[in-house]
Amino acid sequence: MSRRDRLAALILPEVRLWRRLAPGGFRILLLHDVPPAQRPVLARILGDLAAAGRLIGPAEAETLLDGAAPPPGPPPLLVSFDDGFASNRIVAESILAPLGIRALLFVCPGLIELAPAEQAAAVAANVLRGQRPAPEPLLGWDELAALAAAGHVIANHTLTHPRLAGLSPARLADEIGGGADLLARRLGPSAWFAFPFGDVGSIDSAAFAEIGRHHRFCRSGVRGGNDATTPKLALRADHLDLAAAPAWQALTLAGGLDPAYRAARKRLDRL
Ligand SMILES: [Zn+2]
Repeated sequence: MSRRDRLAALILPEVRLWRRLAPGGFRILLLHDVPPAQRPVLARILGDLAAAGRLIGPAEAETLLDGAAPPPGPPPLLVSFDDGFASNRIVAESILAPLGIRALLFVCPGLIELAPAEQAAAVAANVLRGQRPAPEPLLGWDELAALAAAGHVIANHTLTHPRLAGLSPARLADEIGGGADLLARRLGPSAWFAFPFGDVGSIDSAAFAEIGRHHRFCRSGVRGGNDATTPKLALRADHLDLAAAPAWQALTLAGGLDPAYRAARKRLDRL
């Protein structure tokens, strides 16, 4: 066991106790592509959460953000996927559907429209920043329509996945407004947006202004809980590392990594 995992196992009971005393709203899980080897891990984690009654869908999350009283007990979780990889549909049908879970899927409408080779190159360059090749294709419009029909919410993640911080007003309008418009034409309008990369350095106030013209809710990748007092364009989410040890995953789900992101949350709220 690594030092990180030993530490996670050590502090997990304290974090869970603290969460029971101060639940801190609901949390949003952030996942990307889910390769076959990681699906049993995800099925176990979501199965446990569903059995504990802790999973909510996008509609319930919206009511909590609008001020509905949160359920008693530890914070509920909303599942989200970024980038719209093909494995999201497999996971939705084989893991989420049997548990009755509805998720948020953030997709890049401009990348969906590309031919396969162009799309793989754009995903490697824009989404994975040249760190690895595209692991799998993106979901097409027909597959996304099927997921929407099953109750999942398909949302805007910009047209082509650029880093938004520092872009010109014209490019912000193209990427955010253009993505929202294309998504609306294909599947209907979406209240939700997530900005590419999710860290506080990848967003600025000009981008937030453009996001606010098209969407009600914007999810970041900064860790923390969400409630009616959280700015609706600065929602927090927890990246869940499916390759990590169970103790580290449990610590993530319990919000045990929140203290490390306090400064990032403050910066996000000030933008
Ligand atoms: Zn992304």
